[in-house]
Amino acid sequence: MPVFLDTREDGFEAGFRAMLAAKREDAADVGEAVTGIIAEVRSRGDAALCDLTARFDRLDLAPEGLRFSTEEIAAQVARVSAEDRAALALAAERIRAYHARQMPEDASWTDPEGATLGWRWSAVSAAGLYVPGGQAAYPSSVLMNAVPARVAGVERLVICVPTPGGVINPLVLLAAQLSGVDEIYRIGGAQAIAAMAYGTETIAPVDKITGPGNAYVAAAKRQVFGRVGIDMIAGPSEVLVIADGEQNPDWLAWDLLAQAEHDADAQSILITTDPAMAREVALAVERIIPTLDRAAIAGASWRDYGTIITVRDLDEAARLSDRIAPEHLELCVADPEALAAKCRHAGAIFLGAHTPEAVGDYVSGPNHVLPTARSARFSSGLSVMDFLKRTTMARLTPGALAAIGPAAVRLAASEGLQAHGASVQARLGTLNERPNG
Ligand code: NAD
Repeated sequence: MPVFLDTREDGFEAGFRAMLAAKREDAADVGEAVTGIIAEVRSRGDAALCDLTARFDRLDLAPEGLRFSTEEIAAQVARVSAEDRAALALAAERIRAYHARQMPEDASWTDPEGATLGWRWSAVSAAGLYVPGGQAAYPSSVLMNAVPARVAGVERLVICVPTPGGVINPLVLLAAQLSGVDEIYRIGGAQAIAAMAYGTETIAPVDKITGPGNAYVAAAKRQVFGRVGIDMIAGPSEVLVIADGEQNPDWLAWDLLAQAEHDADAQSILITTDPAMAREVALAVERIIPTLDRAAIAGASWRDYGTIITVRDLDEAARLSDRIAPEHLELCVADPEALAAKCRHAGAIFLGAHTPEAVGDYVSGPNHVLPTARSARFSSGLSVMDFLKRTTMARLTPGALAAIGPAAVRLAASEGLQAHGASVQARLGTLNERPNG
């Protein structure tokens, strides 16, 4: 049974807090195994990758077979139907156009003391994208990771995807092709993350690794962080739908189940101002679950984590939403812009009854890799910024150094850093000799 809460009832606060505190992820502790795998890849390179792929993915490879050849990719991609190809191309173009607008500007200005200051953005040179699971892999996730990297200007883009028993989803290869990926390797798990971080004979190391994966992948990303950058460690997905009394309960039920079918640990929450809507949506969800292909997964998620909250008004809904800080926030109300203005903490907001979250998973344009588990309080979804870094710039004229240098000398002395002070003072000394030098 999902949880039913009503802000007018005693005990609401305790129930709401219990929901927020529920631990949904029960990740296995695989840290030690992963440390061993990373060490093996670092010491034995390609040979370790071949052994581990045989062991975990039931696939015997020689080092030459680690990388998909151009011919193999072409042959697989040719199997994709024209309709699937068109849908993927539309998604790729919309994601590209959206992320192109995220590109930040460089800045440069001269301050009153004569210092020219600013910053400059540049892309990482090489990025590695982990694509989980072979056949079950999501082509949309390939686009969501690879397209922003390309837009940011990353020169070399690498994909690692396990192909259990040699099986690959051709749409994954097509998505890689559409987003301009340069190299695709058929390896998975911690060994793939280690190979991208440290390099092997066949795989040159990258600078940043992104993409979801199981507990082994997540642990490996944590362990290689510092050697390379990583995006985030995403937990089970979640949606919060806020609805007034004028909505179609079936639509809302589908939206809640679209999240629940991802994972038994996913969470779907409805907040509504209308008690009748709460009841109708609950009934619709129960009616639809048995009809789903993934009824077991969606049913478990709804039973264990599904929540319906009835509130007095939309202001109250917005306050609860900020406490949840959901990954996805759907606003199915008459004036979604007004409500959105009151909701501060959310990974992605979907405004109005005709913007189901599922459209954002694929084709609306914004990224679907988003902060989970309340981390939208302090972080954002994947963007071009994840593939960029900022370099600061400063150029001082002699006059500017004369104006601000003495303060640096004083601060250096207060920190006991003699050479720091001398490095500035040496220049100030010559300026005093030749004030306009
Ligand atoms: P995966 O590619 O993440 O993991 C497969 C690899 O795990 C194998 O290649 C193997 O190397 C390694 N592995 C498996 N058992 C091991 C063991 N005993 N010891 C060492 N290594 C082992 O694929 P998966 O397992 O199907 O998991 C996919 C995960 O990604 C799921 O948790 C899914 O929810 C998540 N996912 C998230 C998104 C998203 O966008 N957030 C998208 C797709 C998938």
